[in-house]
Amino acid sequence: MKDHPSLVKVPSKLELEKCKRCGKLRVNGVWREWDDLVVNKWVHDKVNAKSMNDVHTQVYLTPHPKEEKEFRVKIVVSGEVEHSRVEFVLHSTLFIRSNICNDDMLITSDYYEGIVQIRMSEKTPEKIRKVQDEIVSTLNPLQKLDSKAVVVNWVGQEFGMDAWIVSKKAAKAAAVAISRLHHGTMSVSGKLIGLDVHTSKTKNRLTFLVRIP
Ligand SMILES: [Zn+2]
Repeated sequence: MKDHPSLVKVPSKLELEKCKRCGKLRVNGVWREWDDLVVNKWVHDKVNAKSMNDVHTQVYLTPHPKEEKEFRVKIVVSGEVEHSRVEFVLHSTLFIRSNICNDDMLITSDYYEGIVQIRMSEKTPEKIRKVQDEIVSTLNPLQKLDSKAVVVNWVGQEFGMDAWIVSKKAAKAAAVAISRLHHGTMSVSGKLIGLDVHTSKTKNRLTFLVRIP
């Protein structure tokens, strides 16, 4: 029984994509942080044990000693066949393919949904640097939950500067922080920048105008 080759199978090669910028993994089409439970479940789903009942798997991943993007996969499959308990050990190789996740794709293509326009009554290089630092330190803690909390471009202006930020939410957070820190005022306006072909939803770019002393 144990030698029966068709009773339980797994592809000899498995492949997952990994983002080369943030390290997230694409599992079943969704980009997410590496999570052993999720990866093990994904491997489990690749096991074909249709002729067995009550199938359980234990998945062991070992990094390949020489190949950085390979894991040796050992799967212990146990289940029931004709009322008796059987166990098999399967082997496979998991290849990690480099890619770039959707969020990072937007960041690297200079896409942005929010502009923070800082206008100051008296512009000095020191003040500009200070505000830039404040925007960066406002965005940094947000990046854990929102990888789009990133400035893709700084544009100098006669009375201040503009920060192009990938996510609208992060742009708002930066604008609120700067207007509070400097006791300034903030106003917001929107502009249609396109249509999402998949959802038919319109896309807006928000501009936050922050005036500080
Ligand atoms: Zn990424």
